[in-house]
Amino acid sequence: MSFDGIRSQEPAIRLLRQSLRSRRLASAYILSGPEGVGKGLVALAFARAILCPGSAERTEACGSCGACIRSAAGTHPGLLVLERAAGRTEILLAQVHELTASLSLRPAEGDRTAVIVRDAERLNEEGFNALLKSVEEPPPGATFVFTTLNREAVPETIRSRSQHIRFRPLPRESVREILLAAGVEEARANAASELAEGSMGRATRILGMGLAERLGDLEKVLASERDAVAAAAALGGLLTPGGGRHDREGLRERAEEILRTVLGLARRRFLVAPDGRGELDDAGFCFRAIARGLDNLRLNLPVDVVFVSVLGEVLPRWQKRPSM
Ligand SMILES: [Zn+2]
Repeated sequence: MSFDGIRSQEPAIRLLRQSLRSRRLASAYILSGPEGVGKGLVALAFARAILCPGSAERTEACGSCGACIRSAAGTHPGLLVLERAAGRTEILLAQVHELTASLSLRPAEGDRTAVIVRDAERLNEEGFNALLKSVEEPPPGATFVFTTLNREAVPETIRSRSQHIRFRPLPRESVREILLAAGVEEARANAASELAEGSMGRATRILGMGLAERLGDLEKVLASERDAVAAAAALGGLLTPGGGRHDREGLRERAEEILRTVLGLARRRFLVAPDGRGELDDAGFCFRAIARGLDNLRLNLPVDVVFVSVLGEVLPRWQKRPSM
């Protein structure tokens, strides 16, 4: 993994390269931005560059030295990754303790250590507190790289010691090109890249759930089903396509994706040709109802309850006029 294969994040990568070139790494970096835009890939490429002894000249891992071969294989003792285990909503305190223990065992002289904390918003307050001392007084040569959706999720004490690197959504065309290069057929790639709002994570989920193919069905439900409970059941039918992960976290992510797709359809429905004040009021009302639904999913309210409450608000406005 090198910086070269990562699309549309040149400003972020330039800042990290400057850090490597100056040979004065900050003790921590916060890579923030939307889901699925390359933060994790960049964090990994940066960590590998930190660990490669020849990286200062090239501002990139060489890919062929012993350190690079070990970091690519995931066996480099100086590459530590803290992330949520599959099926868990949070990074566990025990994982943080394990990390700080291995950090304290790292040898001093000359050896570098790169710690990637993936999706830092998955650390709760207790977890951050357990990590704090290691970030405040890092072992010699240790660099922390946090990735997060939201910089504010990282406590101020850590933020104040970190260099902040911002990531932006990918251009729609980049998402489309990546999907096409991965062998996704054109119609699906077009539909998914239109809905994904610059996030490869979302594009992948949309394709995995078959949402791109079922937009017509979804629109029909929104335009004609008068009963919120029945409409919620129809939306619920999209949650578990062909098996896949059924853990609670996966379910919540997919429910979120469905609501965001409804939001995308609402934009199309209301904002393409607004015909006056009343229409804009309806649009705002629906957007707010969907946003509240997304918040409630994040608060772990049951998916069916959230769907029924959102649709109960949205359907009457949606169906006020004949659909376009
Ligand atoms: Zn190397």
